[in-house]
Amino acid sequence: ESGIPIVNDGALTVCSNVPFEPFEYVGEDGEYTGFDMDLSREIAAGMGLELEVQNASFDGLQSGTVLAANQCDLIAAAMTITPEREANLAFSDPYYDSLQSLLVPADSPAKSLEDMSGKRIGIQQGTTGETYARDNAPSDTEVIAYQTDADLFQALQAGNIDGVFQDLPVNLKHADDKNFSLAGTYSTGESYGLAAKKDGSEKLITEINAQLAEMHSNGKYQEIYDKYFTE
Ligand code: GLN
Repeated sequence: ESGIPIVNDGALTVCSNVPFEPFEYVGEDGEYTGFDMDLSREIAAGMGLELEVQNASFDGLQSGTVLAANQCDLIAAAMTITPEREANLAFSDPYYDSLQSLLVPADSPAKSLEDMSGKRIGIQQGTTGETYARDNAPSDTEVIAYQTDADLFQALQAGNIDGVFQDLPVNLKHADDKNFSLAGTYSTGESYGLAAKKDGSEKLITEINAQLAEMHSNGKYQEIYDKYFTE
């Protein structure tokens, strides 16, 4: 009745890339949880819809292929708004500001990207962290691509890589494990946006932005923020 076309009746279908804690992960109850998932569930409810979540590779999300294939209405995946992506996607207003960071084993002497000279860093394929690491790591650093944040973290645990370059909030979550620590943060001025198909999404994006604005004014955004980012 809203006149907004959606792929599945009665649901706002969102594609994400899980796990990317604290933004999207599967909780102990088997439900999709995290900052993005709670925001999306609230937006869906505001539109009178259930939330449905589909897991996909991050590369498939940021290139827009999942939307082109009508797999979902929206991408909620801690996705940074970039000019390159804006060529293929329609973004909502920014909903979260982020930074990049380097995570290393706690016993590593590394204090920054410069200290990764001659070493291996893992990045998640297709991410802004990949771009930053490839552009800024020493030329003799080996940059190795992994599909998911889970793969990255396992590789670091196994000693297959010497560091992980990833969005700060996600590396901070991993640094809760005392075996890992942050070896640098990088202010890249990134903001996350929800994304829809480039063409024909004007009504959906307008609705999403209205829902986000409503959540900022009624305290719901702050409530969800505090749940994931305030100790
Ligand atoms: N914010 C980063 C990007 O947009 C990473 C997102 C992710 O891996 N889910 O590229």
